[in-house]
Amino acid sequence: MGPVVAIDLGGTKALAGVVEADGTVRSRVWLPSRDLSDRPAALLDRLADAAKAAAADAQRPFETISSIGLCVPGPMDGSRSVVCRAPNLGWVNVPVRAELERRLPGKSVLLENDVRAAALGEHRLGAGRGYRSMLTVFVGSGVGGGVVVDGALYHGAHGGAGEIGHMVLVTGGPRCGCGRAGCLEAMAARTAVARYVSEDVARGHRTILSEILRGDLLALTSRDLAVAVANSDAVAIRAARRSARYTGLAIGNVVNLIDPDLVVIGGGIAEALGQTYVNWAGEIAQRQILSNARDVPIVLSQLGDDAGLLGAALTAFDDTRDLC
Ligand SMILES: [Zn+2]
Repeated sequence: MGPVVAIDLGGTKALAGVVEADGTVRSRVWLPSRDLSDRPAALLDRLADAAKAAAADAQRPFETISSIGLCVPGPMDGSRSVVCRAPNLGWVNVPVRAELERRLPGKSVLLENDVRAAALGEHRLGAGRGYRSMLTVFVGSGVGGGVVVDGALYHGAHGGAGEIGHMVLVTGGPRCGCGRAGCLEAMAARTAVARYVSEDVARGHRTILSEILRGDLLALTSRDLAVAVANSDAVAIRAARRSARYTGLAIGNVVNLIDPDLVVIGGGIAEALGQTYVNWAGEIAQRQILSNARDVPIVLSQLGDDAGLLGAALTAFDDTRDLC
């Protein structure tokens, strides 16, 4: 099977690349997305150009590329043709599939949500290889997830499956970006960790993060957190463990519901803290998991920043196979 062009569209930048069926990435073309985010047509023009540029970079004639896989930062309609909302791009009901296919005649364009694409990537090319079912949880600036059942990504009746980040864990807890309160995302994402650190500092605890961030604790990055944890900073460790505790609680709940073969934890915070974060979350999860599912392995993701791009490519390959 020939290669596809995959595009990972984020809120600030997009990455387009030619990807082979075995996951080899032959080219990478970056472009900013934020400066055009208020004008969907202009950004779609640029994505179409990037797809061609990616093929040229890989020295593949564009005619030999059969399909384009695109992952997008937001939910889609049931037919996965229209991006319903992409808050980081300011998009509402943009018919991305039809618009890109019009710009790229003869190519099929397949869409997937970015987090679900990353879960698909981990399943087929990363930590989940060889497993029939798995839960993936990404903990970073937000919290998202994906569920694989019987070897395929599970989308649910309305395309909404996998939203583990908005599982409510604390009634009346902190406000979440989704408008509800006490969601996993509000308890475990990077902003939550920054909040835990700030609260500790307000109570008089000292942390090297105050120096690293020159007092602006809310500007915390996953890397800053990892540096502080590696330096045995008590405030940083406490904050990171709180994040991991809620992640573990949510994982335990979902494992009891779907009994997967594997759980994969990824995302900026988990990847920066590595196995330490997985161990903390895993310990809490195992306490929640009922005995018949207790042996489920809980592991760190393997694909890092490439998960979305590879997942977008797999989305395109899967469609090509469907046609065969
Ligand atoms: Zn929420």
